[in-house]
Amino acid sequence: MNIFAKSKATYGWLFKDPFYTQIRAVNTASWRAIGRLLYGVKELKKIVAGAHLHLDASLKWRLIRLTEQTKFALRAIGADFSPADMCNRVENILQNLQWEKDGNRWRHIVFPEGFFLHDVLENNSWRKISHFLRVSWRHLYYHELANSPRHELNGQDTELPPWDNDRINLVKEWSQQHGGKLTLSIGAMMSGRVRLLGPSAIQRACPGCNSYNYHWDHLWNCLLNMDPPKDVLLRRFLWPRSRQDFQMIDTFFCKLNEKYFD
Ligand SMILES: [Zn+2]
Repeated sequence: MNIFAKSKATYGWLFKDPFYTQIRAVNTASWRAIGRLLYGVKELKKIVAGAHLHLDASLKWRLIRLTEQTKFALRAIGADFSPADMCNRVENILQNLQWEKDGNRWRHIVFPEGFFLHDVLENNSWRKISHFLRVSWRHLYYHELANSPRHELNGQDTELPPWDNDRINLVKEWSQQHGGKLTLSIGAMMSGRVRLLGPSAIQRACPGCNSYNYHWDHLWNCLLNMDPPKDVLLRRFLWPRSRQDFQMIDTFFCKLNEKYFD
C-alpha cells in the first residue's frame, strides 16, 4: 500500500509544503494500513518506521535530489540562474534536521564528515547520503522523545538512554519481524490499566494470570518472572539494548502473542 499510495501523494507538493493536516492524514492512513497502531508514541513511530513510511520524510528526500537535478539541467543548457525557491527549501530541510553548512559541505553531529549536495546526483552517493538523512531524522525525533506527552516517557525519574544508532538498527530489525513486534516497539499496545481507563473501557486480561487492570510493569514479573528493567525503552517498548536482549524480548512477545497478536 505504502509504495503506491505514497508516491502518488508526493507529486504536486514539491513547491509548497503540504498542510500539516494533509500530511497527518496520509501518515495516519499508512499506519492504519499496517494495523491499529494509533495509540503509538508519535516520536517512536517516526524513529522506527517514519523515515521510510511518512509522507513528510519522503517529500524531503525527493525535493533534495530533485533540486540538484534541476540545477544540473539548468547548467547543462547554460542557464545562469538557480531555482532559488527550491534551494532555500532544501537548506531549511537540512537545517531543521540539524545539519550545518560549512562552506559547500553539510555536516551533522552524527556525520561530521558530511556531504556535498551535488553528490546526490550520483546513485551510489545518493544511497549513502539518503541514509545519512534518515539517520539524522531518527536522531532528531529520538531527542524529541524527552518532550513526549506519553506518561511512560515524562516521569520525573525517567532517564532517556543516550542516542545509539546501532540500537535503533536493532529495534528496526526486531520490529520488522512481526506486526505485533512493531506494535510493541512504537508503544501502541496499552496496558490493561490504560485500556480500562480509556474511552472504550475494554477489559483485557494479563495473558499470564488473567488479572485485569494490570500495570505494564506487571508483565515483566508475571510473564518473565523478573523485575522490570531500568532502561525505559526496553521496559516499556521492548527496545533491545544489544542482540543479547533478543531472546528475552522474544519470550515477552511470544507470551503476549499467544493471546494478543495471532
Ligand atoms: Zn499477570
